[in-house]
Parts: sequence; structure tokens; C-alpha cells
Amino acid sequence: MLLDTYGRTATDLRVSLTDRCNLRCTYCMPEEGLSWLAKPDLLTDDEIVRLVGIAVTRLGVTEVRFTGGEPLLRPGLVGIVARCAALRPRPTLSLTTNGIGLERTATALRAAGLDRVNVSLDTTDPAVFERITRRKRHGDVLRGLAAAKAAGLTPVKVNAVLMPGLNDTEAPDLLAWAVERGYELRFIEQMPLDAQHGWQRADMITAGDILASLRTRFTLTPEHDAERGSAPAERWLVDGGPHRVGVIASVTRPFCRTCDRTRLTADGQVRTCLFAREESDLRGALRSGADDAEMARRWQAAMWGKKAGSGLDDPAFVQPRRPMSAIGG
Ligand code: SAM
Ligand code: SF4
Repeated sequence: MLLDTYGRTATDLRVSLTDRCNLRCTYCMPEEGLSWLAKPDLLTDDEIVRLVGIAVTRLGVTEVRFTGGEPLLRPGLVGIVARCAALRPRPTLSLTTNGIGLERTATALRAAGLDRVNVSLDTTDPAVFERITRRKRHGDVLRGLAAAKAAGLTPVKVNAVLMPGLNDTEAPDLLAWAVERGYELRFIEQMPLDAQHGWQRADMITAGDILASLRTRFTLTPEHDAERGSAPAERWLVDGGPHRVGVIASVTRPFCRTCDRTRLTADGQVRTCLFAREESDLRGALRSGADDAEMARRWQAAMWGKKAGSGLDDPAFVQPRRPMSAIGG
């Protein structure tokens, strides 16, 4: 088991497959991109499958989410999914993606054993999309979403970040759009994880703002806490249900007490939290011949050091060295 000193058990593994991306979302990375990890530093497909195998067979991980960067840019993605789906006990497998290219790969991913996708989309307006992501790819994302639904990667969830002056008035339109298509929309509060360090608490659109905006058009009924479990999203029934909307309020309503996550970066570092300032190197041990028992012991030692919370509420909070795209969101 992956236990920490606060009594939490990590059963949900987020694996970053690459730090590269074909978009440049303003809340994530600068226009010119970042200096990407060199190929030899990246875990190979075999190394990823081995580490996921250790997590699943020895450490009690039951859910694995592939992310990045943009995970669809990883050439071996379908094979990685297939090999992880063959693990026993079989983990639940999901993907967080910007949706570009999903139109071509959704069916193969489903056949390989992927269970669900979250597609990030912040606006229904192609011009606003271009301002937020700095790329003209709105149509690709919409086609990717439709392909995911057709392939049975359901429930298809849509992640949206609201940015002041860009899409902050769009919450009700986005929800109406998602409800109509049967996608489950989740708003994510903007977090201080952008590479440019441009996040300002005073500017961010809070969960309170989002809910007030949605309530101008919809009746929202809270789901019971028992149904939430360790999920980061608080959820509401929309106009009595069955459609739901979620809000992930990492900044204003943190959920660290029930956190069940452990993270693996594309270069093989274990992170206990998005906001952690420390990492534990598994790649070095892996490449110097450590056996599975030793790797598991190192992973457990890393998680034992997990902090109680993100530290966002502390005035002395310092943003982690790696941005979201290199940690794996
Ligand atoms: N490229 C994929 C995507 O966009 O879905 C996967 C990686 S991305 C880092 C994962 C999620 O993090 C996306 O839903 C994105 O909107 C969100 N994200 C990125 N930067 C963020 C920030 N500063 N605050 C909140 N969410 C952020
Ligand atoms: Fe790329 Fe995802 Fe970051 Fe946007 S949020 S730049 S799609 S990694």
C-alpha cells in the first residue's frame, strides 16, 4: 500500500507520458513553449509499463490516468494502454487530453482497454479558443470529443478553466452545450502551476464565481458528500438531473484531506502532490537494476513523506519548479 503519515492511501496513479504539447494554453505554458525533456530522460514504454505494473500488483493502485503534456503525442500510447489493461488486478484506465488527434485514435484506444477520457475544452467559440490556446484547433477538439463518445469512452468528461477577460462569462453556455451532447462538464479553478508564474489569486475565477454564474441559468442541487468520496470534483445535479456539473476548487475549497493520488512524471520521478516541491527518482533505480520489491519500497518511502496539504493557503507558498505540463495534470 502507498500510505502516508496522515493515514491516506494512494490508489489513483497519474502518469505523465510526455511534457510536450501542441497547444499553448495561456494558463499552462508560454507562447514559445518550454525546453522539453530530452528523449533519453523520458521513461521508455517498457519502463512505464513496468512501473505501472509495480503500482498495481504490489502497491494497491486501482486507477491509472495517462496525462501530460499532451499524451496523444506519445507514439506508443495505444500499446502502453493495452499492456496496462492486461495487468491483474486490472486497473481502471483513463486519459486526460486536449482532444487533438482523438478523432483518429479513440477507437484503437477503446479496443486497447482505455475506459474513459477527459477532454479539455474551455470555450464553445473558436475565436476564444484561439486566444486561450494560441492555436486554431477548436474543430479538432470537437471532433475528438464526438469520436470518444462514439467509441464508448464514457462518460466523456470535459475540463474547463475560466480565465478573466477571456471566457469567464461562458460558464452557462458551456454547460448548456455539454448537457446537450451528454458530456459531463467540470470546471477547474486556475492554479499557480503555469510556467510563466502569471497566476494571481486576486484575478482567478473562483468556484463561488462559477456557481453564481451557472445559477443565473440552471438550478443546481448538491450531490451528497458520501457520493464524492476522494474525487476532487464537487458535483451538482443540473435542473434536477440526470446531468451533472462538477467544480474542482483546488484553491478555494482544497480536498487534500481525502487525496488518494500519487504521480509519476515522464522522466520517472514520483510526486506526492501537484504542488510538492520534492520528487523521488525512480528512473535511476530502475536503470541501475533495482528489482520490483526495491522499486516498490522506494515508492512507498516517497509517499510516506507526503505533506498534509498543498500549502496554497500559506502566505509563504512557493510555486513548484515544474509547471503543470511537466508534472502531469
Ligand atoms: N494536455 C492535456 C489536457 O490539456 O487535457 C493533459 C495535460 S493538462 C496539464 C491537464 C489539465 O490541466 C487540463 O484540463 C488543463 O486545462 C489543466 N490545467 C493546465 N494548467 C492549469 C492551471 N494553471 N490551473 C488549472 N488547471 C490547469
Ligand atoms: Fe497543452 Fe494541456 Fe497545457 Fe493546454 S493545458 S498547453 S493542452 S498541456
